[in-house]
Amino acid sequence: MPLFSASPPLLQRFDRWAGPALALVGLGLLLLETRHPLRRRTRPRPERWRRNALLAAPALPAARLTLLPAMVGLAQRAAPHGLGRQLARLPGPLRLGLEVLALDYLAYSWHRLLHAPLLWRLHRVHHSDLDMDLTTAWRFHFGEMLASIPYRAALPALLGIRPATVLAYEAVFEAGAAFHHSNWRLPLAVERRLAPLLVTPRAHGIHHSVVHRESQSNFGVVLTLWDRLHRTLRLNVPQQALTIGVPAYPDPTRQTVAQLLALPLAPLEPWARPDGTVPGRPAPAGPLTELSR
Ligand SMILES: [Zn+2]
Repeated sequence: MPLFSASPPLLQRFDRWAGPALALVGLGLLLLETRHPLRRRTRPRPERWRRNALLAAPALPAARLTLLPAMVGLAQRAAPHGLGRQLARLPGPLRLGLEVLALDYLAYSWHRLLHAPLLWRLHRVHHSDLDMDLTTAWRFHFGEMLASIPYRAALPALLGIRPATVLAYEAVFEAGAAFHHSNWRLPLAVERRLAPLLVTPRAHGIHHSVVHRESQSNFGVVLTLWDRLHRTLRLNVPQQALTIGVPAYPDPTRQTVAQLLALPLAPLEPWARPDGTVPGRPAPAGPLTELSR
């Protein structure tokens, strides 16, 4: 017997409502990034899309069949106890707000852990994409989905967050990831207004830079609040100055699906190109500005 049912009523509702809504968000972003591209592509789309789709083929079912049922199952078992009882005494909107803030902070802190050596073995599969667009949002090693269960399913349960909130936030998380990975050129004035609050495509582009200190910034998924509080927010790198990827893996012919699936077992590489040079950014003549003024 499985530990958690793959389709409790809450998850059935998630499939019925969030599934089509997320598909619509994806379709909209696909059209927008095609009509208004933000960064110039370095590789043909079919080459990357095929690779990213083949990586998503085990990763998305792994998330749906293990991570999501664990989120609901653990939250249902833990909600009446401990912190959940304290949270239940709060007025409804305040409780919901605190739950959502806690979940978004867990998403931020999990992403920081993914950049620590052990989990970077998995997360580098995502970062090695040589361009970034909507399909990058689904380019994950399935092992990263499984590894996230103790953090992203057990901790919300321990905090007493309700299963419905966990799943609703998960839909927001997926929509946010699709948005900030997309290559959609929002008008700069609009993105400057959004960036203090939400993680935007330009901000997350900086996180996918081959420059190490830039990749160590902008870990947020939905809100930029946590990057601001932890001083990891970086908004001042123009998109056309960015090279997307991991410097050790610049060669697309060495990114076959089989090689990427085996990448977690490969030794960790230093943050340098194969010839040993380290990507940097020369000191600018004037202040770098884009999202920040
Ligand atoms: Zn990352």
